[in-house]
Formats: sequence, structure tokens, C-alpha cells
Amino acid sequence: MSIQSINPANGKLLKKYSEDSSSQILNKIENTHAAWLKWHKETSVETERAILLINAAGILRKRKDELAVLMASEMGKPLKDGRTEVEKCAAVCEYYAENAKTFLKDEQIETDASKSYVSFQPLGVVLAIMPWNFPFWQLFRFLAPALMAGNCALLKHASSVSGCALAVEKILIEAGFPKHVFQVLLIGSKSVKQVIAHPLVKAVTLTGSTEAGIQVAQQAGQLLKKTVLELGGSDPYIILEDADLESAAEICAQSRLINNGQSCIAAKRFIVVKKVEKEFTRLFKAKMAEKITGDPFDPATDLGPMSRIDLRDELHEQVQQNIKAGAQCILGGLIPKFNGSHAFYTPTILTGIKKGMPAYTEELFGPVALLITAKNTNEAIKIANDTNFGLGAAVFTRDGSGGEEIARNQLNAGSCFVNTLVKSDPRLPFGGINQSGYGRELGMFGIREFVNIKTVFIK
Ligand code: NAP
Repeated sequence: MSIQSINPANGKLLKKYSEDSSSQILNKIENTHAAWLKWHKETSVETERAILLINAAGILRKRKDELAVLMASEMGKPLKDGRTEVEKCAAVCEYYAENAKTFLKDEQIETDASKSYVSFQPLGVVLAIMPWNFPFWQLFRFLAPALMAGNCALLKHASSVSGCALAVEKILIEAGFPKHVFQVLLIGSKSVKQVIAHPLVKAVTLTGSTEAGIQVAQQAGQLLKKTVLELGGSDPYIILEDADLESAAEICAQSRLINNGQSCIAAKRFIVVKKVEKEFTRLFKAKMAEKITGDPFDPATDLGPMSRIDLRDELHEQVQQNIKAGAQCILGGLIPKFNGSHAFYTPTILTGIKKGMPAYTEELFGPVALLITAKNTNEAIKIANDTNFGLGAAVFTRDGSGGEEIARNQLNAGSCFVNTLVKSDPRLPFGGINQSGYGRELGMFGIREFVNIKTVFIK
């Protein structure tokens, strides 16, 4: 059995990797467990672990051009965006190298004991199942805190980005991490069950679709293994009557087209109050239309191909279905003509989305914006919350405290932003509610997900 990396700009095979056999999987689990026994006992958070993570950050920065080429080849990310992604990975390594000690410090709690406190202990080997859309960032935002906390990790990356996965293994070895502290499993999703079932695998994190999250959570749940799930989203951006429309249109287009629309926290539903609908739509369409789709290796390119031809075809099918259901397509909606078989799709806007149409509830994971009209602010908030997801949300208004009230108390999502796009930041917790998953990554909350929050009580 093999796993393939295919260039989505031209459909050409880049490389075949042979899949790990059952016994290879077993060996890797055992080796990583053996590495963990030493890692958590013989290294400390403030010295060895921090130094190694800083080394990794340095190597990431040094190699950012090379790693950006790998992403451009395997999943179509334009080079400039790839470099930014690698920089962000270096930053998250540095952040946890600097802060993990504080986050994991024992917490004294006064009780009737002579001494009682909370201590944060590692769990062991954690399985990370990761998606292709930010092949380095999604991994590092889990890996940096997990390693600092004294855990070790096995990675099952998306089948389309094995080159990126193996590059991380090399970087960590070069940074000085002991062998097997982090290992890549070259496996398809069918073999994941075997890994979860192994008693030496203590917990699982998955970033990916809600369907995959449900299956993995079921398997882990049967064995009572901890999971963190970072899943899909259909983030609503509300544009109120008093919004700065020019700025809102710019930010909304930027957010919708992040990573060619293939981001969990890309803005997906734009809920516009009737009074400003016409003007916002005009400005937004102009901003969406000005993005250049093309070769990810060309510095002028804003949007490369989507990451896989089948995913582009699925997205186009979703667009067609919504048009049939009554949506109007005012931009894009066509597979563009490029040489060879490719995964390109150009920015697309569907207006007139209403309850009952598929796009009202589904996630569209590509450069397709959905415009929904609301009578007023209250209706806009109601529509924003009328979803099974709950990852991010944003509201645009000139009324600062009104915006804050909506973000804090009225929008149902893991991250709610005012007058800007939802983005992840190493310092702030990140994650969703409802079908967008549970648990948090980043910040202090992120590093405390895969630890035993241990109570110590001395009479
Ligand atoms: P996906 O198909 O769910 O794949 C994600 C990972 O899960 C891949 O490694 C995949 O392996 C594996 N996988 C799929 N089905 C599985 C199963 N039944 N058991 C075990 N592993 C399984 O998702 P994707 O297409 O790569 O990514 C897009 C989705 O991820 C979107 O819904 C997006 O919103 C979400 N996402 C969420 C976040 C977040 O932070 N909340 C971030 C990024 C993306 P194979 O490649 O081998 O199938």
C-alpha cells in the first residue's frame, strides 16, 4: 500500500511513500514510549526542553524557503504564505519555550493539609492526527506545548502531505531532540484505530473535519482516552448598519480567502443588515475579484490551486447545488481553464442564501463566500448562531462597546472578534464549541490539555 503526494497545480505525482505495516506501527509506538520514559524524567521544562525548542525555531526560520516550496508542491500554498506559516511555527516554539515553565508551575492551594498543591504531569505518548491545510502550523501548535509538558508524539498527517510530515521529523532531530520523541506514522486513516487502541497511546488530538472527529472520538471514547478536537466551522461575520463598510469588505475578503478559503476559521457566512447590503456587496465583490489566482511559485499569486482535485470538485458541486436551490452566483462559480488536470477554483460569491439551502448549514471549504441578508441586528445575531458549528465569529460596527457586548455575550463560538478577522495567536486559547469540537490549543489552556492535573496533599 502506498500514500501519494500529488501536485494540485498540475495533477502530477510528486512522490509515493510506502505505508507502515502493522508491525512497523507497533515498533514506532513502542519506540516513542521508550523515548518518553527518558524524555519526561531526564529533561526539564526550563532547561533541555526549552533549549531544544528554541533550536527547532531557529532551524524552521533557516529553512523557511525550502519548507514553503514543499507546501507549494504538496498542497498549493503560495510561497509567500508558506514562509509566513513557517515563521508562525517558529514563534509558537519560542512562545512555549519561554512560557511553559510558568504555565506548568505547581499551584499551591490552601486546605486543611500542611501542604496541598496542583502539579502538572505529562500523560505519555499522544497521537496527533492533522490536516493538510496548514501542514506545519496545525502540527506545531499542538507539538510545541506537548513536548514542553513532557509528552512525546506520534503524527498521522493528512495523506497528501507526507513530505511536510517527514520534514518536521528531520527538523526535530537536527534541533537535538532525542530519537523517537516525535515520529511520523505513514498510514492512511483506516490504520488509525490500531494506534488509538494501543495501551501505550494515552491521548489523541485531531484537527480536521467534523466527520473524522466523531469517528476518532468514538474510538478513543470507548477506551476512555482523552481527546482534543479542532474541527470544521462556518464562521459568521456580521456587518451592521454602522460598520465601516470599506474596511469590513477588505477584511471579510481577506478572511474568506485565507489559504484559498481552506481554513477552519476563514469567514464563511457574511450576514449583512439589509440597509447596507447593496453597498457592502459591491465593495466586497470588488475586493474578492482583485485576487490573483495562479502558480503558487509565482510571487504575484494570491491564491494557488486548492489542495486536491477531488476537494475542488466537491466544492464546485456544492456551489452548483446552491444555485439550483435559488442562490445567485455574482462572482466565479466556474472551474477556470489552466493546463492539465488541476485543482484551481477562483473566488466565488453566492448571494441570497436562505434557511433551507444546503449552504445555510454546510461548511464550504474553499474560496466561496455566502451572503445572507438580515432585517436588523437582532436577526443577524440569530442567523449567526443558527448553526451546528461554533469555531469563530466576528462583528463589524463603529459602536465599540455594542460590538463587544455582541462578541462577549451574544455570539456562540470559541473566538469572537470585533472589527477584525478571527485569527489564532500563540498567546490566546483557540478552539470551538458544538460540532467545531472541544478542548483548546495555544496559550496556557493549550498546554494544560495533555497533562495529568495532579492533586498532591500532605497531611
Ligand atoms: P479530514 O478529511 O477530516 O482529515 C484530517 C485528518 O484526519 C487527516 O490526517 C485524515 O487522514 C484524518 N482522517 C480522516 N478521516 C479519519 C478517520 N475516520 N479516522 C482517523 N483519521 C481520519 O479533514 P481535511 O479535509 O484534511 O481538513 C478540512 C477540515 O478540517 C475542515 O472541516 C476544516 O474546517 C477542518 N479544520 C479545522 C481546524 C480547527 O482548528 N478547528 C483547522 C484546520 C482544519 P487522510 O488524509 O489519510 O484521510
